Amino acid sequence: MENRIHDVLIVGGGLVGASLACALDGSGLDVALVEAEPPRMPMIPAADARSLALAAASLNVLEALGVLRHLPAPPAPIRRIHVSRRGDFGSVLLRADEYGRDAFGGVVAAPALGAALQARLGELHGLHHLSGAKLVALREGDGTREADIQHADACVTLKARLVVGADGTGSCVRESLGIAATTHDYTQHLFAGSVRASRPSDGQAWERFTEHGPVALLPRTSGPHPANTYGCICTVPAADAQRVAAMDDADFLALLQERFGWRAGHFLAVGRRSGHRLRQCVAARLTASRAVLLGNAAQTLHPIGAQGFNLGLRDALTLAELARDVRDGDVGSDGLLDAYARRRAADRAETMAFSDGLARLTSNPSRPLGLLRSLALGAVGAMPAWRARLAGGAMGFRGHVPALACDGAPQAVATP
Ligand SMILES: Cc1cc2nc3c(=O)[nH]c(=O)nc-3n(C[C@H](O)[C@H](O)[C@H](O)COP(=O)(O)OP(=O)(O)OC[C@H]3O[C@@H](n4cnc5c(N)ncnc54)[C@H](O)[C@@H]3O)c2cc1C
Repeated sequence: MENRIHDVLIVGGGLVGASLACALDGSGLDVALVEAEPPRMPMIPAADARSLALAAASLNVLEALGVLRHLPAPPAPIRRIHVSRRGDFGSVLLRADEYGRDAFGGVVAAPALGAALQARLGELHGLHHLSGAKLVALREGDGTREADIQHADACVTLKARLVVGADGTGSCVRESLGIAATTHDYTQHLFAGSVRASRPSDGQAWERFTEHGPVALLPRTSGPHPANTYGCICTVPAADAQRVAAMDDADFLALLQERFGWRAGHFLAVGRRSGHRLRQCVAARLTASRAVLLGNAAQTLHPIGAQGFNLGLRDALTLAELARDVRDGDVGSDGLLDAYARRRAADRAETMAFSDGLARLTSNPSRPLGLLRSLALGAVGAMPAWRARLAGGAMGFRGHVPALACDGAPQAVATP
């Protein structure tokens, strides 16, 4: 067992754990990060064809943390978001310029964001970073947590004042702490990729709900992508997943066109796709003695509103802010953990309700519900205050906004 006591031990070096390590850089805290994947493995494999929509607040954070400069091209701006449902009337168009902003956020390829974070991690001097290091057990020590880590055919024990579970949906930290999690299988499978259309994207994002789940296009006009390239998602019932995974490009394009419609013109070509099973997993609590859960370990959401990483990044930033404020004190104190849980409560509850509610409501084929949905979409479209609330969520200014997420513009999104 090592005698050194770290202030913070982050378990899981995915998007959220790595972001937390960056946010704690220069804090004076002794931080360790353990990641189960072997060294030099990409944080997100190249086969993952997802385009991630990052809210304006998240872009502010990633810029301030020195991550964005490692991207091969700047994020493609999302200037307008059009929301509709197949078979219902009514739609909503949100425009960033109505709120005095250039964009709601930007779009990056998931592997590129992983690589940028990895590059930034490599620049951090004080970080004790172990790859190929898997947490296998966690227990309470004397004023610490003790973590057994399987690393290079040996088991080492690390001690820390605070253990952070950023180890994803099947979190070992969560399980070791005895924190229960509620899971829900949406029985949907999502295919992500990129598509070229006959009409230019010009900052336009589309979210179209169907009874089988959402179909969406995100602008990818940045760097090597021509103006009419979009990131796309197409959700199908889980029972159809194998059939759709086996489709050739022509059949997949036809499926996407049939499900999405013609608002972006003809779909001309589609790139490689990756398939993702959709489920929700929500931890009953965020904290335990000297431990806290962040990101997917705390809440794994339906990706319908593109909220998962954006929310996890706000988790990480909030914890970093609180930890940086501890002067010669105990970063794993109950006081800090209570403050964390309080600060995250509103944003977490609202974002989970939004993503789950939207996923269930929009895939319900009931005709009376369809009428209600149409009226609701019409009402949201017509009510500036509701549109402003949606716009605020899309930009990531929700609940207690961490300082690094602010860019000098007002945090609250005013009614246009
Ligand atoms: C189809 C799809 C589209 C999405 N689109 C968006 C979007 O547009 N915008 C958005 O904000 N979010 C989006 N998300 C959500 C986003 O991808 C996740 O919220 C985010 O990746 C979660 O990151 P994480 O670091 O919490 O977890 P993970 O990415 O799961 O990382 C966990 C890490 O912990 C490591 N680990 C696991 N167990 C151990 C252990 N025992 N010891 C050590 N290490 C361990 C793993 O190897 C992994 O590296 C999408 C999700 C899906 C499925």
